[in-house]
Amino acid sequence: MKNGENKAWATRDQSVVWHPCTQMKDHERLPIIPIRRAQGVWLEDFAGKRYLDAISSWWVNLFGHANPRINAALKAQLDELEHVLLAGFSHAPAITLAERLIALAPPGLTRCFYADNGSSAVEVALKMSFHYWRNRGQPQKTRFVTLSNSYHGETLGALAVGDVTLYKDIYKPLLMPVIVVPSPDCYPRAPEVSCVQHSERMFAAMAQILARQQAEICAVIVEPLVQCAGAMRMYDPVYLRLLRAACDHYGIHLIADEIAVGFGRTGSFFACEQAAITPDFLCLSKGLTGGYLPLSTVLTTSEVYAAFYAEHAAQRAFLHSHSYTGNPLACQAALASLDIFRADDVIEKNKSLSAHMARALAPLHVHPHVAEVRQTGMIAAVELVADRATRTPYPRHERRGQRVYAYGLEHGVLLRPLGDVVYFMPPYVITPSEIDLMVEVAIRGIEWAVAG
Ligand code: PMP
Repeated sequence: MKNGENKAWATRDQSVVWHPCTQMKDHERLPIIPIRRAQGVWLEDFAGKRYLDAISSWWVNLFGHANPRINAALKAQLDELEHVLLAGFSHAPAITLAERLIALAPPGLTRCFYADNGSSAVEVALKMSFHYWRNRGQPQKTRFVTLSNSYHGETLGALAVGDVTLYKDIYKPLLMPVIVVPSPDCYPRAPEVSCVQHSERMFAAMAQILARQQAEICAVIVEPLVQCAGAMRMYDPVYLRLLRAACDHYGIHLIADEIAVGFGRTGSFFACEQAAITPDFLCLSKGLTGGYLPLSTVLTTSEVYAAFYAEHAAQRAFLHSHSYTGNPLACQAALASLDIFRADDVIEKNKSLSAHMARALAPLHVHPHVAEVRQTGMIAAVELVADRATRTPYPRHERRGQRVYAYGLEHGVLLRPLGDVVYFMPPYVITPSEIDLMVEVAIRGIEWAVAG
C-alpha cells in the first residue's frame, strides 16, 4: 500500500514535472523518488524507506534536514515578516546577516549585495566588475578569464564563464567569449610532482595571459580549491596566492566563487582563508541558508562600492535586481545557521569528521579501478577508471557512475556521482557510524559497478 503511494506520486510527477539536470527518459528505468519528509541526514520516501543524503541535497544542507534550531528561527520570522522588497526598504535579518558575513569574510570585504541563487550571484559579480571599470574610465575592459573545467552556474553569463562541456557546449552560440586558462587541478600531475608544485607550475599559463591581455580583462573568476561540478578536482592554495598577487599587479579583479566551497566545506570557513587572500568579489549561496531557502550574496570592497556612489545624474548606480533579493526568511535561516557554527564550534568539530571520512575511504587507495581518492576538508572524491596504471577512463556510455547511483539508492544512500567520480559532501551533523555506512555502501556500489 505504502509503496503504492510512492508509485502514485511518481506517476503524477512524471506527467507534469520536468526535472533539472535530467534526461527524463531515464526515469522509465529508474523511477523518481518522492520524498515525504526528512530529518538530519536522512530523507524518507512515502513507503518509509530512508536515504542517507551523502551530497547534502546538491551541496546546500549543512546541519541536517528539519534542524530544530533553524526551524524555530524560521517559524518566528514567519510571524514577523515574510518578504519585502529590498529597494528603498530594508529589514533586520538582511542588515544583521550582512554585518555578520562581513565580520566572517576575509578582511577588506565591506559590502554585501544580495541576490537569490548561486548563478545570479555570479552574474552580479561579473556585471559589477565590468561596470566598475566603466565607471572608472576603462571601458576597454570587457573580458573575463576562467579556468578550464570550472563551473559557475547555468544562466547565460555564468554558463559563459564556466567550462564544463556537458552543460555548456550546446549553448555556445549564445555565450560571450571568455579566456580559458588551464586549471591547476592536481589530478593529472605526474606521480613525482606534489600538488603544491603542480599548482604552482600551472600558474605560468595564467601569468602569461594576464600579462598579455591585462588591458582588456575585467576579472578572473575561480572556484577556490575545489572545482566541484567539474568532478571535484582539487588544487593547492598556492595558486590562489599567486593569482591574487598577479591580479593586484595588473589591475584585474579576482572573483572567488565560494558558492559550493564556502561555509566550511574545505575545512576552513571560507576556502580563501587557506590562501590568506581577499578577493574583490566573494560569491556565496548554497550553504548560506543551511540548505533551507534560496539566497545568495556577493561581498565586495569599499573601493568597488565607491565607484558606483555618485549623484543620480552621473548614472553610475548598479541597476541589478531580483524580486526575492534578500528575502527575510532566507536571511533568518542564514543567521540561525551562523549561530550554529558559533555555538557548536563546527569548523573545529568537522576536523575529526573529515579525518574519519579519510580513514573510511582508505581501502579504496589501492583499488584496481580507482585512480585517485582525494579530499579537501569535508569534500571527498573517488575517481573510478577502467585501468588504474594508465588511468584510462571507462567509456562514457558504460555509465559506471550511474550504476553506483542506482546501487546506493537500493541500499539507502543518496550518492550522485559526477560521471565516474563518486563523491561525498555530507551535512555536518553526520555521525562517524553514518560515515561508515555511507562509505561502505559506496564501496560495495563501486565493486558492483566495476564488475563485468
Ligand atoms: N557556482 C558554483 C561553484 C556552483 O557549484 C554552483 C551550483 N552547483 C553555482 C555557481 C550555481 O548555483 P545555483 O545552482 O544556485 O544557481
